[in-house]
Amino acid sequence: MEVISITPRGYCKGVTKAIKAVKDAWANPDTVKPIYILGFIVHNRYVIDELNQLGVITLDDRITSRLELVDQIDSGTVVLSAHGTDPLVKKKLEEKGLDYIDATCEDVDRTFLLIQEYAEQGYHIFYIGKHKHPEALAAMSLTDSITLIETVDDIPLNIAKPIFITNQTTFSQYEIKDLIQGIIDRYPHTILSEEICDATRMRQDAIIRYNQNVDLCYIVGDPRSNNTRNLAIISETVTNTRTKQIESVTDIDSLDLIGVNRVSVSSGASTPNHLTQEVIEFLKNYKPEN
Ligand code: SF4
Repeated sequence: MEVISITPRGYCKGVTKAIKAVKDAWANPDTVKPIYILGFIVHNRYVIDELNQLGVITLDDRITSRLELVDQIDSGTVVLSAHGTDPLVKKKLEEKGLDYIDATCEDVDRTFLLIQEYAEQGYHIFYIGKHKHPEALAAMSLTDSITLIETVDDIPLNIAKPIFITNQTTFSQYEIKDLIQGIIDRYPHTILSEEICDATRMRQDAIIRYNQNVDLCYIVGDPRSNNTRNLAIISETVTNTRTKQIESVTDIDSLDLIGVNRVSVSSGASTPNHLTQEVIEFLKNYKPEN
């Protein structure tokens, strides 16, 4: 079986920085312990498990907001995830006298700065993102004059203010086109700053470039990772390639490999390299049973 190893794939600079921030905090004797992470530092349970094994405490139960999670912390240092954080969370940490390390990715920070600048100038913000995603939740906390747009049905009627459009950094560059057009059709005089980050764009472009005459594509990553899910959707819908999203090599089903001669492999920006490498090695050595 021919195995196509798609690059670039895997960890981006923001994920690398966030994981390093946690490990450095844990290793630094001057950092007040215990180390807490509010929400998943990045969306991959293998990464979380590794950090938890060091003794880092991840607070995330999918129901409780990050603001409420702060109530569970009385001492120690809190690391804030790469996705960005509601300013009220930072304020509450400061009021409680807790140290925190902000591991927000610089690309997310840039988008948040744009949102704040345009809101201050009197614009209403249309933020294209995924409901309940931590980056979108943090963006929505920056101003009252903002609407989250996930589908065209979310585009409101009759906003009287001028409109500024921006987006979640990990959005699909294919999905976003229709949403931007839908907004512009309704509000022709808008200002647009499309903020899909370079890491996301390059990983999405690579899927298109490599998925030529491929029978099956594996995308390795956590189901909660938005950028991983987008890679799988692009592989399936843009390159018309049969696609399986898996978390690790143990998720490979030999039934899926029947008749497969060429298989491609990529992974989300929060997927540790060793998980993808194990999938590649398994496929390279795979011998179908007769
Ligand atoms: S996917 Fe992009 S925005 Fe998100 S952490 Fe990585 S580089 Fe930063």
